[in-house]
Amino acid sequence: MGIINVSNISKKEIDNARLIVENKIKQLRDNTPNVKFEHNKLAEVEINKFFYEHKTVNRVMIVLRANGCEHYKQDGGCSMCSHFNGTDRSAKITTEEYIEQWQNVIDGIGLSDTKFDLNDYPVVCVYNLGSLLNENEITTEAVQYIFKSLNQYKGVKKVIIESRAEYVTEEAIKNIADVYDGIVEVGIGVESTNNLIREICHHKGIDDIRKIENAVSILHRYNFKALAYINFKPIFLTESEAIDDAIKTSIDCLNMKFDAISIEPTSLQDYSLANKLYQIGQYRVPWLWSVRDIVKGVYDKVNDKVDLRLGGYFDEEVLSGSQGVGYNSKNEIFPHMTSLNCDKCSNKFIECIKKFNMTYDINFLYEIEKCDKCYNLWEDVKKIKDSRDIVTRVYDILGNEG
Ligand code: SF4
Ligand SMILES: [Zn+2]
Repeated sequence: MGIINVSNISKKEIDNARLIVENKIKQLRDNTPNVKFEHNKLAEVEINKFFYEHKTVNRVMIVLRANGCEHYKQDGGCSMCSHFNGTDRSAKITTEEYIEQWQNVIDGIGLSDTKFDLNDYPVVCVYNLGSLLNENEITTEAVQYIFKSLNQYKGVKKVIIESRAEYVTEEAIKNIADVYDGIVEVGIGVESTNNLIREICHHKGIDDIRKIENAVSILHRYNFKALAYINFKPIFLTESEAIDDAIKTSIDCLNMKFDAISIEPTSLQDYSLANKLYQIGQYRVPWLWSVRDIVKGVYDKVNDKVDLRLGGYFDEEVLSGSQGVGYNSKNEIFPHMTSLNCDKCSNKFIECIKKFNMTYDINFLYEIEKCDKCYNLWEDVKKIKDSRDIVTRVYDILGNEG
């Protein structure tokens, strides 16, 4: 991949390209309206089907209304993410408010399912649109309260949370391990193990992969599970470069001892840099056909026993939705576009991906026949090569963008 071969590019040029990306992201963030949310109400509660311990189970995803990711507050955040659209930037959510949000779930307040019981869900996700292990985003008291409460629900077998790697510290993990006996899986945004792609294309702000390796080893020390989020098709990459990078990153993550990987095809939300490049004709969301290539590519290199998920494609039922500002009354962070093929086959393909996520059976991804409208086009897209290195692409695309 030409993009990786940057031996003839100086560090100064690479830093400069990164800065151009950062400035553009910050400019977009400055134009993002600050929405006021009620602090004692959850962002979303939804249930979906998930594959766990060799069978399809119900999973509940609880999204707390939270203070927001510190990475975007400090450096603008990642290029593909708009989680900040769902956070209230003007006020801090207190421990008491987080606890009230959590109690609302337990008591079923504001949920459409009046008989809601956490014990019915073997897998529970507790998300905060950022890092649950960063005490500036959610207090350690609130986190401990939530896990203490979860410990009483023996029907819950696994809890999934998310955190940037740098907040996975002994202290933060102990805070949970002290009060919770069950399995905890921590999803960490790796995005790419290629430093250049991660730092320039994703603007991840993790310049040293060892920070991620360190997080995995801390998690394992406490018998926690490590899940790698791998973004598929960041800005500035061609389709085939993005496929190659997602496969390589998946293998690297497994070698780094991650217990599971989740491929996250880029989707578009307002005010992200990916969305901006889409608007100016410099970005297309990934093709669904490519997602199949990635799963096959990983299975071919490792085996099909690997815990590989395709993020964002689960049959969901929303029990408590947005506070009314998202597309079609959806949650504010709901994307307006996800990866797609053509209008003839996209929906069918998405159904196949959902079946894959419920079974991990790759055959479901081959249930769909080659589409006469778009399959050949996708094959041609995969042949597109870009001889420019990544720095030149940034200059070309953003250098003159006002
Ligand atoms: S992807 Fe994660 S780290 Fe990046 S801006 Fe979004 S919430 Fe923050
Ligand atoms: Zn098609």
